Amino acid sequence: MKIGTPKEIMDGEARVAMTPDSAKALQKLGHDCVIEAGAGMRAGFTDAAYAEAGVEVVEGPDALWSASEIVAKVRPPTEDETRRLYAGQTLISFFYPASNAALLELAKDQGASVIAMDMVPRISRAQKMDALSSMANIAGYRAVIEAGNNFGRFFTGQVTAAGKVPPAKVLIVGAGVAGLAAIGTATSLGAITYAFDVRPEVSEQIESMGAEFVFLDFEDTATDGAETGGYAAPSSPEFQEKQLEKFRELAPDVDIVITTALIPNRDAPVLWTRDMVEAMKPGSVIVDLAAERGGNCELSRKDEKIVTDNGVTIVGYTDFPSRMATQSSTLYATNIRHMMTDLTPDKDGVVSHDMEDDVIRGATVTHGGEITYPPPPPKVR
Ligand code: NAD
Repeated sequence: MKIGTPKEIMDGEARVAMTPDSAKALQKLGHDCVIEAGAGMRAGFTDAAYAEAGVEVVEGPDALWSASEIVAKVRPPTEDETRRLYAGQTLISFFYPASNAALLELAKDQGASVIAMDMVPRISRAQKMDALSSMANIAGYRAVIEAGNNFGRFFTGQVTAAGKVPPAKVLIVGAGVAGLAAIGTATSLGAITYAFDVRPEVSEQIESMGAEFVFLDFEDTATDGAETGGYAAPSSPEFQEKQLEKFRELAPDVDIVITTALIPNRDAPVLWTRDMVEAMKPGSVIVDLAAERGGNCELSRKDEKIVTDNGVTIVGYTDFPSRMATQSSTLYATNIRHMMTDLTPDKDGVVSHDMEDDVIRGATVTHGGEITYPPPPPKVR
């Protein structure tokens, strides 16, 4: 089949869903690849590199969308892009069907199949296609780099001829994929790192990465907010109060806070309140990875960097993966390539959209002229 990747049209989006290397792998599955001219430029992949990898380069979106039986892209399609879909065509991209009901309806009406990369179930077999995790890993790393950029001191402690420098203290709130990546980055830069999560089972992972797990003195930590299907469940008001009390105690002492707390299909829980920001030292930095969903920090503003009256910088950018476009495109294109491998079981360029397969079923949100979202729970973990 012909797999095509258009240029992303969202402002500031620098990622691309196909790289020259992923195209070579797709061709080994028996597919032909096509790309819109310039689609990879902002991620560091030239048209010449695609052509060298055997990819057909076409001018403009009209040529690309009409030539492709499968369209692979990063951002959810706009309404205009969705109208380009035709019966029998497949779109593979982030889609967020829960918040894009109108687009979902339109894609169904166009007769196209949509595979939402954000709906890949979090089961072991699907890890290689888990694009949310690939992107969260990059976001966690980049959050620490961004914090360092806005922090006027070293992360690591130093003894220099000009004086002794204490190490920075970093608190990571939420130790899922992004949080663990942030812990790894902060500890490798030499910071003293603390981390908290409502899922007590992650304490071992936190400690194995060199951070200190922030324990709460709470009777029922084993079940409160504990895991359901790879994600946290909401915790009780009593637990939340204890958590905030602990954070209030830590606020004057930590230099950098990176918040990543997420409960699926909910607004981000507010965990770093105004009074905590006010209690922080001037020069401290907060990077709120949850800014897209309202923010874990009460004062953060989506897509903005602000400095409070007491000199605390709060970063609420929502495009960290795009800020590392070469890396994120490489990982995302690999996730797509793995999805295509599962969709091409005989490596003969023929797609078999097997709705009995947990991963394909879970990620498919429209198929055969129907909306197939939400999916049934996966049979295998
Ligand atoms: P994840 O589900 O793997 O991790 C979230 C973690 O938060 C889980 O470990 C969960 O137990 C924990 N958590 C939930 N409620 C909590 C609470 N009250 N206190 C402490 N911990 C709590 O999610 P992820 O993939 O790591 O993504 C983390 C966040 O980063 C999400 O909000 C996601 O949207 C965001 N993200 C942002 C960017 C960006 O550019 N800003 C990019 C990618 C992801």
